[in-house]
Amino acid sequence: MTNPLAPTATIGILGGGQLGRMLSVAASRLGLKTHIFEPGANPPAGQVADAVTTASYEDHAALTAFANSVDVITYEFENIPTNALDVIESIRPVMPNRRALATSQDRISEKEFLTSLGLQVAPYANVETAADLAHAVETIGTPSILKTRRFGYDGKGQVRLKPDTDPTSAWTELGETPSVLEGFIDFSHEVSVIGARSQSGEVVCFDPGENVHRDGILHTTTLPARLSKSQHMDAILAAGKILNALDYVGVLGVEFFVTPQGLLINEIAPRVHNSGHWTQNGCVIDQFEQHIRAVAGWPLGDGKRHSNITMTNLIGDEVNDVATLSKDASVGLHLYGKAEAKAGRKMGHVNKITGPA
Ligand code: AMP
Repeated sequence: MTNPLAPTATIGILGGGQLGRMLSVAASRLGLKTHIFEPGANPPAGQVADAVTTASYEDHAALTAFANSVDVITYEFENIPTNALDVIESIRPVMPNRRALATSQDRISEKEFLTSLGLQVAPYANVETAADLAHAVETIGTPSILKTRRFGYDGKGQVRLKPDTDPTSAWTELGETPSVLEGFIDFSHEVSVIGARSQSGEVVCFDPGENVHRDGILHTTTLPARLSKSQHMDAILAAGKILNALDYVGVLGVEFFVTPQGLLINEIAPRVHNSGHWTQNGCVIDQFEQHIRAVAGWPLGDGKRHSNITMTNLIGDEVNDVATLSKDASVGLHLYGKAEAKAGRKMGHVNKITGPA
């Protein structure tokens, strides 16, 4: 455990996208500084951070200088190369820890970990060859989904298998890379819990939100989610169990499928999460502040929700509706400062308060 960071201390953040940007804003409100490490030029987080290093994750000299210039290190994405971690971890504490990263970077390790905690996941099989896939289709059946073990996001790195799909062509389509075949879950809806754990082991979870995806990308998160009281508690207990088991410090997202047989976990993300953006206008202390508090060694805030609310992502040219959206007094507007509204690109989001909680 590190001592609580003093005002003006610096948090290093790997990744300079919108999550790094909103983490930097939260840190700044608490009087803390941030330093962003990002390979791409002009990252959204760079506009609001105190310092930016533009370098690749293979640049050990840049990583060393970055780590030496900060007090603790965190990240906004989970696919950090192992070699880069080796370099920075030898210089400053990295939170959440390596085990959280390794577990969530690989879909098979993640499912084995969750199952070991007694949590439910979709039926799955490890696939390393075309023959493995043919065998997996026999045991898991169709419909099913073939997903790459690593580097998948926003529905990328996935192929759906129907009864008439030729497994060999699905294998080729996914790029013949280590994968997992998952049984297709006939869920009624999807929910997620954003949980936080402090350096002293205190756990605080936000209420579950109900998520709707469009074209594989999160479209809306609505609070309250449609869950019975026991499902609500099951979701929060699952998140708490995962946080404790990983000796986690920071914010974690857990995505669930809601089925008549209970909640199944789709995946976990060791970072602040798009489905937690509603907390910015639905709670006094949001997921970004909660994460900064945790990695700074501060006590966590109260995650209580004061409002019913819907978060809607602004994807591509949907950001052009800002003039209309900004007239609505119940809407909190959050834009990421990205110059070009490319198709499928997350440009911002809106949180619309729909009533008291
Ligand atoms: P993922 O990238 O794994 O989060 O998957 C993206 C979306 O695909 C999920 O949010 C679900 O809507 C859908 N999906 C993923 N896995 C399954 C599954 N095993 N059964 C049904 N739908 C799924």
